[in-house]
Amino acid sequence: MRVTIFSTKPYDRQFLQAANEAQGGHHLVFLEPRLTAETALLAGGSDAVCIFVNDMADAAVLEGLARQGVRLLALRCAGFNNVDLGAARRLGITVARVPAYSPEAVAEHTVAMILSLNRQIHRAYVRVREGNFALDGLLGFDLHGRTVGIVGTGRIGVAVARIMLGFGCRVLAHDPQPSEECRAMGVSYVPLETLLADSDIVTLHCPLTPATHHMIDAGAIARMRRGVMLINTSRGAIVDTRAVIAGLKEGRIGHLGLDVYEEEGDLFFEDLSNHVIHDDVFARLLTFPNVLITGHQAFFTVEALTAIAETTIANITAFERTGRAVHEVSTEKLA
Ligand code: NAD
Repeated sequence: MRVTIFSTKPYDRQFLQAANEAQGGHHLVFLEPRLTAETALLAGGSDAVCIFVNDMADAAVLEGLARQGVRLLALRCAGFNNVDLGAARRLGITVARVPAYSPEAVAEHTVAMILSLNRQIHRAYVRVREGNFALDGLLGFDLHGRTVGIVGTGRIGVAVARIMLGFGCRVLAHDPQPSEECRAMGVSYVPLETLLADSDIVTLHCPLTPATHHMIDAGAIARMRRGVMLINTSRGAIVDTRAVIAGLKEGRIGHLGLDVYEEEGDLFFEDLSNHVIHDDVFARLLTFPNVLITGHQAFFTVEALTAIAETTIANITAFERTGRAVHEVSTEKLA
């Protein structure tokens, strides 16, 4: 099967080629550009298209792909908020994804952000290299005994809960579908308002949906403890960035860790070190000493990339053989 792969970096090529040699044998066409209405034309002659988190698969793009005969959209990620599932269904395009690859990769990065922000590792690194061994401004707190609020206890949220319980934290959670595994570990499920009011650290692990878009807005921030640490390694638009900036300026938010950002599509995964950043909201975030931002790298481990590549190739192979991918995104409720 001929597969056009958008937004490819050298590491995508490396892991996908290895998985394809082992179990696929497909004709992979690696492209660097993101999938947009304009670049959709580059998929001509392919049966399948493979995309990542910041590729856009809205109705116009999907119509362009369908016109060229594309029948499978294989996402090499878990979230599918960037796909118009109604349009895919109407056009007869099957949408497949990688529902789980390494929840631990994202959970461990989340905890890395919590530890770095708390103990100011990002600032200490710079200070020591400049010969500044002063401790003023680096004061942290013991995680042991603190309350961590986890919003969304799916695969990643459960892994975060397990680690934070290991630190001796009290763990609260909010999820419309509570996890029995979490309950058995000693996690308490509470309404979102209670979680926001009672947590020293709030960490987001729910998907981006219309219901969770800007879930953390000015009202939610006003309910949080003064000096709260907020972590988002899920999807940028779950957080209203302008409201968060106001919360940082006011001191309500004491620490902010972001691996994702609402408008990351124009920034992340690229080396822009020789360019002026035009996004003033993002630039403002970078000025705070108590903000740590990583460029959507929580998934970036050897184990995760191996699993992503293997599952993506398995989806494509199954679709070629049976007309069904292994992990299809259901569009049933959109019928
Ligand atoms: P999952 O589907 O296993 O779990 C998501 C959980 O969120 C479910 O338990 C669901 O019931 C819950 N949920 C849904 N709506 C909610 C709401 N309104 N409030 C609270 N909880 C709600 O997903 P996962 O594998 O744990 O991944 C979670 C998210 O992490 C993904 O949707 C994706 O956006 C993000 N992610 C980020 C990276 C990264 O590199 N930064 C990598 C993988 C996944």
